[in-house]
Amino acid sequence: MAIERTLSIIKPDATRRNITGKIIDRLESAGLRIVAQKRLHLSQAQAEAFYAVHKERPFFGDLVSFMISGPVVVQVLEGEDAVQKNRDVMGATNPANAAEGTIRKDFAESIEANSVHGSDATDTAAQEIAFFFAGTEIVG
Ligand code: UDP
Repeated sequence: MAIERTLSIIKPDATRRNITGKIIDRLESAGLRIVAQKRLHLSQAQAEAFYAVHKERPFFGDLVSFMISGPVVVQVLEGEDAVQKNRDVMGATNPANAAEGTIRKDFAESIEANSVHGSDATDTAAQEIAFFFAGTEIVG
C-alpha cells in the first residue's frame, strides 16, 4: 500500500467540547501521523470555498454557519492508505449509521455536527491540503 497524505478537520462541535485530544488519539492509534496541524477560525468565504462542491445542496448554508461557529483544527495526516484509513476511523457521515468504535459514532452530535472532516480521495486530498497548508508547513 502507498504512503498517502489526507486532510483532516476537527470541527467546531469538537473544539467546543474540548475533545481534540481524544480525536487525535484515535487518529494516531490508527497509525496516522500528524505531519501538519493548525487551529483556525474559518471565515465565511473560506468555509464556502472549502465546501463549494456542496453549494447546491439544501444543507450548504447551515453547514457553512456551523463550520464558522467556532475554531477548527486542520491537519495533514500521513500513513499507509491514509485517505481510506482516515475515512474508516471517522465512520459514516451520519453518526446514527456509523460503526462501533469510530470517531463519529462515539463523539458526533448530529449529521451536521459530526466532529471531523476527512478527504474522500487522493486527488481531493491534494487539493484540500493545498487549500490550508504551504508545502513548508508540512513536516514529514
Ligand atoms: N452534512 C449535513 N447534512 C447532510 C449531509 C452532510 O449537514 O445531509 C454535512 C456534514 O457535516 C458532512 C458535510 O456536510 O460531514 C460534508 O458532507 P459529505 O457528504 O461530503 O460527508 P463526509 O465526507 O464529511 O462524510
